[in-house]
Amino acid sequence: MIIDGKQISQSLKDAMKIEVDALAEQYGRRPCLMVIIVGDNPASRSYVRGKIKATEYCGFDGHLVELPEDVSEATLLAEIDKLNNDPLVDGILVQLPLPKHISEDKVIAAISAEKDVDGFHPENVARLWLNQHCILPCTPKGIIELLDQAGVEMAGKKAVVIGRSNIVGKPVAKLLLDRNATVTIAHSRTKDLAAVCREADILVAAVGRAKMVTAEYVKPGAAVIDVGINRTEDGKLVGDVDYEAVLPVAGAITPVPGGVGPMTITMLMRNTIECFLERQILGKSYVQKHFQLRKFLIDMDINEQKYIPQYLSHYNSIKCTCSQLKRKCCGIWKVSKRRKKHGISEQNEGTYITRLQ
Ligand code: NAD
Repeated sequence: MIIDGKQISQSLKDAMKIEVDALAEQYGRRPCLMVIIVGDNPASRSYVRGKIKATEYCGFDGHLVELPEDVSEATLLAEIDKLNNDPLVDGILVQLPLPKHISEDKVIAAISAEKDVDGFHPENVARLWLNQHCILPCTPKGIIELLDQAGVEMAGKKAVVIGRSNIVGKPVAKLLLDRNATVTIAHSRTKDLAAVCREADILVAAVGRAKMVTAEYVKPGAAVIDVGINRTEDGKLVGDVDYEAVLPVAGAITPVPGGVGPMTITMLMRNTIECFLERQILGKSYVQKHFQLRKFLIDMDINEQKYIPQYLSHYNSIKCTCSQLKRKCCGIWKVSKRRKKHGISEQNEGTYITRLQ
């Protein structure tokens, strides 16, 4: 089976478009994503164009802040500070990489953790690893979504992630672990990589080496997720997986382009909506929210809920474990009898805000 990331992300964006209109009607404003780009790096420009296009498609307020290559770190930090303090801004993204004279770590840490739609802020990273409510990084979040949509069972399965970067390898390994897979993180120093990978029921390649994963890396029937984006000498876009060779062996596989890539942008949209909802519903810090949500859940009269997001239909259609549902950011969820059985609902069947951590 080919996992069609393009089509899956399109249907998610269509659902979000309807949802955003409903949000605008209910709250009198639309989710707002601010994207900052420094300089003229063509690849960055192209990524940013894709992000702004998606915000427009989904009906967000989205704006691009363009700063020159030689902008000082102080000016960039001041810009971020302004957006942090703007109540009408829900998400802030600074396109990486940044010019050498600017510290990426400093810039990422300067973005308010509650508006950090990339999920790179140290507070969000720590919260991910502590199993606390956080904003998930977009690519790993998109990978789990793809596996869910393709009906790939993760619990009890062996997963191998090739690559240990902070933005893909490590967080996707953590998310697979959260779904009860037995996870191995392989990397440039892993011995006999092909044999390690052949053990995997789920193989995620996030390396950045064109067609490195050949058929001998793949267990027959495995789900293969190709994160890599590489350009061949003739300008063609290829993944880390030798797609033609692996396709007949794998049980499911994502193509490049049209696999993980579109999902990354779609999850950025999802994160922006979740930040919007969190701020609209509670407008409080993480810690305050933790208590408020519990209280809200208990106090809420389900009949007073006017707004049920469109994407419920999507999420309701997937198999959803208790921990997975809890991990999804704040939203309004219809609790089915099956979920009640898993202990998600503390009360009657109905519509609840679920974020219990
Ligand atoms: P990175 O360079 O930060 O990390 C690459 C990892 O691969 C490292 O941890 C390294 O240990 C490992 N590695 C390198 N050579 C290896 C080898 N020969 N064998 C085994 N492991 C090896 O990269 P990253 O930021 O994680 O990105 C990885 C790839 O994914 C890149 O091609 C990048 O463009 C792509 N990417 C795609 C998306 C998307 O949305 N589709 C998002 C992020 C990154």
